Amino acid sequence: MTTRRPAILAGTFAFIAAVAIIAVLAALGGAAGQSQGAALGKRVIVLGVDGLDYGMTADWMDQGLLPNLKRLRDQGNYHPLTTSMPPQSPVAWCNFSTGANSGEHAIFDFLHRDPNTYLPYSSMSEAKSAAENASFLGIKLPNRARLPFSDYIVPFAGGTTVNLRKGTPWWEVLADHGIPSVIHRCPVNFPPVPKKDVTLLSGMGTPDIQGTNGTYAFYTNRPPTNYRDATGGKIFPTDVVGGVAKNRLYGPPNDFIDYERIERRTGRRVAYQDRKASIPFTVYVDEENPVAKIVIDGQEIFLQAGEFSPWTEVSFSLLPTPGFIRWLWHDLVSVKGMVRFYLISAQPEFSLYITPVQISPLHPAMPVSYPPEYSAELAKAIGPYYTQGMPEDTKALEFNVFCNADFLRQLDIIVKEEMRMADYELSRFKEGAIFLYWSCVDQAGHVMWRTLPGEEDHPAHVPELDEPFQDFYCSLYAEIDQYIGKVLDEYVDENTYLIVLSDHGFSSWERSFDLNRWLYDHGYLVLQPGKNPASIEFYQGIDWSKTKAYGLGINGLYVNQLGRERNGIVPPGPVKDELLREISAGLVEVVDPKTGLHPISKVFLRDEIYSGPHAALGPDAQIGYVRGYRASDECAVGEITDSILSDNTRRWSGDHCLDYRTVPGVLFTNFTVRRSEPALIDIGPTVLKFFGVPIPLEMTGQPVF
Ligand SMILES: [Zn+2]
Repeated sequence: MTTRRPAILAGTFAFIAAVAIIAVLAALGGAAGQSQGAALGKRVIVLGVDGLDYGMTADWMDQGLLPNLKRLRDQGNYHPLTTSMPPQSPVAWCNFSTGANSGEHAIFDFLHRDPNTYLPYSSMSEAKSAAENASFLGIKLPNRARLPFSDYIVPFAGGTTVNLRKGTPWWEVLADHGIPSVIHRCPVNFPPVPKKDVTLLSGMGTPDIQGTNGTYAFYTNRPPTNYRDATGGKIFPTDVVGGVAKNRLYGPPNDFIDYERIERRTGRRVAYQDRKASIPFTVYVDEENPVAKIVIDGQEIFLQAGEFSPWTEVSFSLLPTPGFIRWLWHDLVSVKGMVRFYLISAQPEFSLYITPVQISPLHPAMPVSYPPEYSAELAKAIGPYYTQGMPEDTKALEFNVFCNADFLRQLDIIVKEEMRMADYELSRFKEGAIFLYWSCVDQAGHVMWRTLPGEEDHPAHVPELDEPFQDFYCSLYAEIDQYIGKVLDEYVDENTYLIVLSDHGFSSWERSFDLNRWLYDHGYLVLQPGKNPASIEFYQGIDWSKTKAYGLGINGLYVNQLGRERNGIVPPGPVKDELLREISAGLVEVVDPKTGLHPISKVFLRDEIYSGPHAALGPDAQIGYVRGYRASDECAVGEITDSILSDNTRRWSGDHCLDYRTVPGVLFTNFTVRRSEPALIDIGPTVLKFFGVPIPLEMTGQPVF
């Protein structure tokens, strides 16, 4: 059985091994595929703007606020673009990249579940534990070796991370026909899959150096009382004594230390946090002016309050490196990462935010690009950049570490980085296909929706905090519009097809629906004797011998199926079908007493939305919520709240994980679209047809022209 666990970066040797393996694969790939020169100067540019909403875009174009998108619409076409069910970004972008539905690419939600344990895991990538033995130049090595008289070990074999997306992305089909492409930050593309003629930079799904989706660090002398509850970040109470604050920056788990040996010797548990490599730093806070000097890893950084530092590379030592041999092995036993510091305030309140430690594009601890050296080439050309999959720090905003203005300051850095990346590639783009991705509209939409005009009644709206930001979302759309104007003016000619698209639209999220609470209240989900709903975490405490169905992930509903789930009780076939029919009928009848609305418009059964070799891996049904509603977060990971429906008071106030028919994406083209209801799965086949490349059978989408 494969063990499921979050992607954890293994020791340095594992990184080196991974780079070496990829280099070998690259060499092999070089001997395969023969360039047919089929591109012949033809070019396709695909600009992907996550979450760009069809209705909002149309309104703002009509009001003259998006003149360049309007120009593109007038030259070509503007259509709603059918998204995936569920319309979650990983699922939708895989529909885009593979030209097929989840049954083909096997991504059904942000979260999947192991039927053996009923536990959720990330759908995008999987960490695999180390093989039994590693080898070097054909010589078998032990898994690890102990350094004499110490607690240090050298791991020779490390875990690997595997991209769980199945199916074949369209750029690989192009490459098989000798047509090159550049694919920037397409979601579910980590680790990057080596392919000759494809230049890849990984996106959503790329971890930070700790192996998480992004863990910020926040140092303050005024921690909130609940500071230990922060998720997606860690808050470190830090006193300023005589104008000096000291603490540590934490990096990757240190696989070079034998913690079990230390625990045996000391009789004390080594906490997870203390198993990470770390670097000490000192902050000198000016007593009069809002400025500070940070000293870390031999570098000095001067910051004013409200200012982000430039990217700063830091080096986490995994083994002690005495000065006289530093030149010899420091690079082998250290991991480089990269951070920006953000001094929120200097004194009397001291608040310093540090970004999640990024995998450095200049010295990547594990490859974030293919070829592996491409990330450094890009960083040398445009400056260092975020490599983390979803860099916008929505978690810092949600926990009040950031205020609205802090979040937008960081967002601006990300938008500018993505535009510099786009400039670099577009300005040297000769032939083939290029895909560029913007995350900003989606991430800002999620956490800033409550500030929009018309959202004054949103349960999360706070007038004095939110009203000053009413116009920001339209301004963000306008910034993207301006860039598209530049693309039209400078990079599009008669040989260039331009496609601007989004993976889904957007909606307010005002009310939460707890599917597991509904199943519990209606007797489909049963707790063990003595347990109450509030005590359930990660599905622990559920009586599986009596439970017929459970919710997992944002939209998924699973039957506790006999012979599939470890303690399944519902036989597949007519009994299961009848159960799903009964639950579906019950769910669409629910009425929210606060609004009088039905929160669920339709329950989509698996066979009706998925086909392909992996369809059976998916949930038995996907719940289609109406606008204004979404599944509660607790429900997605196996907790049970105290009511089926509740107000959403979180800053994460907008969402799109609804009935897919209500949140289409957008499709702009500079050519005529003939297909009446174009969909995300049609884009791959469209690009292939443009180059005259046969469309593989497993791509079920159709060209749009
Ligand atoms: Zn989103």
